[in-house]
Amino acid sequence: MNKEIIVSGIRPTGNLHLGNYLGAVTNFVKMQYEHNCFFFIADYHSLTTHPNPKDLHNNVRQVLVEYLACGLNPEACALYIQSDLPQIPELYMMLNMHAYMGELERVASFKDKVRNQPNNVNAGLLTYPVLMAADIIIHKASKVPVGKDQEQHLEMARTFGNRFNRIYEKEIFPEPFAFNYGKELVKIPGLQGGGKMSKSDGDGNVINLIDSPELIRKKLSRAVTDTGPNEMNTKPSDAVQNLFDLMKIVSGEDKLLHYQNLYSNCAIRYGDFKKDLAEDMVSFLTPIREKIAEIDANHQLLKQVVQIGKEKASESANKTLKECREAIGFKPF
Ligand code: AMP
Repeated sequence: MNKEIIVSGIRPTGNLHLGNYLGAVTNFVKMQYEHNCFFFIADYHSLTTHPNPKDLHNNVRQVLVEYLACGLNPEACALYIQSDLPQIPELYMMLNMHAYMGELERVASFKDKVRNQPNNVNAGLLTYPVLMAADIIIHKASKVPVGKDQEQHLEMARTFGNRFNRIYEKEIFPEPFAFNYGKELVKIPGLQGGGKMSKSDGDGNVINLIDSPELIRKKLSRAVTDTGPNEMNTKPSDAVQNLFDLMKIVSGEDKLLHYQNLYSNCAIRYGDFKKDLAEDMVSFLTPIREKIAEIDANHQLLKQVVQIGKEKASESANKTLKECREAIGFKPF
């Protein structure tokens, strides 16, 4: 298989939930063995919202611990903290010199921010896509695993890279494109009957990887269902279908079939069904929760992981930056 250079950022916010794990992180885990992957914890990016200095480090640490527990392997990929690479802001600064106010002001995510947080429209927000471009092209990435909402940012990364190449008449940056892992995007449903599992619908809608067995049982006992099937209607509601979908993932096809049959025969008891699902959810997540606790307690390991990541990513970033500095005309005396 053709090995791609893949770059992806990880936001240092909150704990991972089952949706993040199965929808995103498991793909990263596979990708790291198939491609040349750079995964970074995007703490420079988080500065636009002025995080509390006391929280920033803990948040970075927590995502690092959880990604490692999910299977990211610092030997297989470059897993690093963005702020460990001063090369990134240097490239960001160079790219900023050729980024135009007009094109930055037209970016959809910037316009959203201006609308939603008019009291904090800082220059960092305006140039956010430039920093994203620097993150990506500093490793000469060919692919970036992004959703539809990030397509405009990726387009800008191509624009800034191409512009730099053109202005300095060097072929330094290849064009990065979206990377889709597999054909189908997995969608993990939430517990509140709505759409996908997401923190924006409250903690009761998500199962976090660190949730205790008691909390998982509590959340599932409160999961939304309906009044149950009857002879006239044996098609599950969206809420119940969501729970079936979760069961398929954590319990397997056989048990799902068992409850689907009970449902079709109007014999399902939601209390039992949810209890059974909760136990399987607990079994499914226990190894990860234990791994999180184990890694969390191993400060030495985290220190090593961060150091290895920094070295790997710096090696790649330094090469690119050297080319950029030469292209621009910086020369050693
Ligand atoms: P978020 O932090 O909510 O933006 O999620 C980060 C990434 O996790 C997303 O880009 C998706 O790839 C993945 N993700 C989040 N929620 C779900 C979900 N319910 N089902 C599948 N994937 C998800």
